[in-house]
Amino acid sequence: LLRAEGLWKSFSDREVLRGIDLTLAKHEVIALIGASGSGKSTLLRCLNLLEPIDDGRIMLGEEDISDPRVDANAVRARFGAVFQSYNLFPHLSVLDNVTLASRVVRRVPKRQAEERALALLERIGLADKASEHPDRLSGGQQQRAAIVRAIATEPEVLFLDEITSALDPELVGEVLELVRSLAEDGATILMATHEMAFARDVAHRVVFLDEGRIAEEGPPAEVFGAPREERTRAFLTRFL
Ligand code: ATP
Ligand code: MG
Repeated sequence: LLRAEGLWKSFSDREVLRGIDLTLAKHEVIALIGASGSGKSTLLRCLNLLEPIDDGRIMLGEEDISDPRVDANAVRARFGAVFQSYNLFPHLSVLDNVTLASRVVRRVPKRQAEERALALLERIGLADKASEHPDRLSGGQQQRAAIVRAIATEPEVLFLDEITSALDPELVGEVLELVRSLAEDGATILMATHEMAFARDVAHRVVFLDEGRIAEEGPPAEVFGAPREERTRAFLTRFL
């Protein structure tokens, strides 16, 4: 579905991505792991067309979306993304946050967008917060609302970047449970995470990024259970 071919990306003279080849299949869940500064967020931002690449290309199906002539906004409308924090518009109610993209980008009629949004909020137990502003929600509730907002447009790919790292530990579980249920429903997800136990349980494939290169990838049982690369072992021992 989504394929990165030989991606290179530098910031001034620092090479952050150094030849990334990665394919994400439909319904696949990939956990992107790696040390701080290894390039996880940069890779997600490049794939999401929030950051231009220096070399390589990004294919979405048969379309080269890294072609400069491509309408990046139109492509991004086919994706959903949730970041570490500040995902919701503070001046809009939870319901308006969730329906905004459907109404503006997808031109779904208001009633229909709201019905669907309320059903999604119901599913995560936040229907009673629909008319509240985000600052009235806990961090975990805000992140769950942000995820629901990202999936309200039925994105082809969902990018999640450290969505639990700004949360208090007791709120992490509820957010990860929601991601798990989306994965079980067949969502296509590329997530950067430091939650190794979650990556092991939920991801179909784990990709270990090391200084801008994919050092190792494979099923979680292999990467966590019997890493082939010394670099992977060194990284994982810091987490286990
Ligand atoms: P973390 O686990 O801490 O989130 P990461 O793997 O997501 O780390 P990135 O955020 O992709 O790492 O950063 C990779 C490198 O690129 C870092 O050295 C960072 O300082 C640099 N970098 C990222 N964004 C920019 C930018 N906009 N301008 C300059 N340098 C940047
Ligand atoms: Mg990051």
